[in-house]
Amino acid sequence: MQRIEAITLPDLYHRPPEEVIAHQNRLLGPQVELCSRAHPYYSKLLVALGIAPSGIRTVDDLEKLPVTTKTDFITDPEAFRLRADDLPQEERTVWDIMCTTGTTTGTPTPVYATTFDYSSHLFNARRYADLIDFRSGDVVAVIFPFTPFPTAAVHRVTAEATACGASSIVVMPGRPSEYLSVHRSLDETIALIESHRATVVVGHASFVRRVWIRAAELGADLSAVRTCTISGEASSPALRADISRRMREMGSPEGRIVNRYGATEMATNMVECVEGSGWHDLTADQVYLEVVDPDTGKRLPDGEVGLLTFTHLTRRGSVFLRYAIGDLTSLTYEPCPHCGRTTGRIMGSPVRTKNILKIKGTLVNLTGLQDALERVPDLDEFQIVVRKDPDDELGMDQLLIRAATKVDEHRVIDAVTDATLKIAHMRPYIEFATSDELFDPLTTMKANRILDKRPQQ
Ligand SMILES: [Zn+2]
Repeated sequence: MQRIEAITLPDLYHRPPEEVIAHQNRLLGPQVELCSRAHPYYSKLLVALGIAPSGIRTVDDLEKLPVTTKTDFITDPEAFRLRADDLPQEERTVWDIMCTTGTTTGTPTPVYATTFDYSSHLFNARRYADLIDFRSGDVVAVIFPFTPFPTAAVHRVTAEATACGASSIVVMPGRPSEYLSVHRSLDETIALIESHRATVVVGHASFVRRVWIRAAELGADLSAVRTCTISGEASSPALRADISRRMREMGSPEGRIVNRYGATEMATNMVECVEGSGWHDLTADQVYLEVVDPDTGKRLPDGEVGLLTFTHLTRRGSVFLRYAIGDLTSLTYEPCPHCGRTTGRIMGSPVRTKNILKIKGTLVNLTGLQDALERVPDLDEFQIVVRKDPDDELGMDQLLIRAATKVDEHRVIDAVTDATLKIAHMRPYIEFATSDELFDPLTTMKANRILDKRPQQ
């Protein structure tokens, strides 16, 4: 194993792309060698494909491997864990386990991190501290929900605060357990942020927004909060602008929103330097990113939209090669016009492939509709439901928008209908419900905005 100084690339964010690729090539060979002898899934795959480990020396050679899907992983998560007893202790000792949820079953799937992987995360946090806006002396309030399984959201953010010299409060909101009441309510969450004078709040966008709406109703003082960092679910510019406006109305000096993108399996994340800059790849010396054709797995040129995949270059716990996160996006290596960083950026909002649905025979991007609905004034919460005609299970597909508002329903009906006609080219059915019926932040980890309720074929 090379020492950490040899693994990381100094001044990574400002190196010419060819130097970064040369460094990635130096790391990939040893990583594939390690997988060939100590990774149950990839050792078998290489044998099945008749590829010697020495056949994958450069990132271009990765195209010889098929894309690994989430289904491959959740079918046998233990097969993705490196088991090399001859590695130094920090590279083989499990530091923590986080879970990602499966696509269909919802079963939590474990992702292992060794001490070395955890150290890598601390190292990264210091390197991109200015982008996530964590400063020494900050009080970071982590308001991701306390779930029945450990999530990266809580663990990785507290690690970042630690790395940056900030203190952190882990609030653990959620519905109290039947047996052990340790979860905090929405109002208790607000009280903790207020009493600690938290300077940074980190959580899911939909819950962060709910905190500010409720705080205004309570007359709470969250003026010390400089920055809200949102991650874990897609959010639109309209939603982020809404949170920023509410922060400033409560006296936040900047009302800054940091928008992050990542996946538990990848174990690193990407951050926008300013709204709309695209998400910066901040760990190109640990993870190699590709955008590939969803049908053939062939790499696509910069700027073309395809499946985002990643390959670990230095990971020691759960390790993935060419793993598809399940999002469609594009990559660019043009220097960022805002900050000058030269490592890759993913551009535009990544679209979950599961949110592109065939409705009445036509593919509709429901993420686009979600973005449009988030811009409808006074629409407090909503849900997009694709269903069959309730009176005729074999009948036509229908698009139902479930909506919550505190103002005139007719105005909301007009705006929702206009947005749906424009984006999805069909007239929606509209039903009203309360905000909590559509998204109860204490029972649901993330707002479930898009539901396909048609019988599965
Ligand atoms: Zn930038």
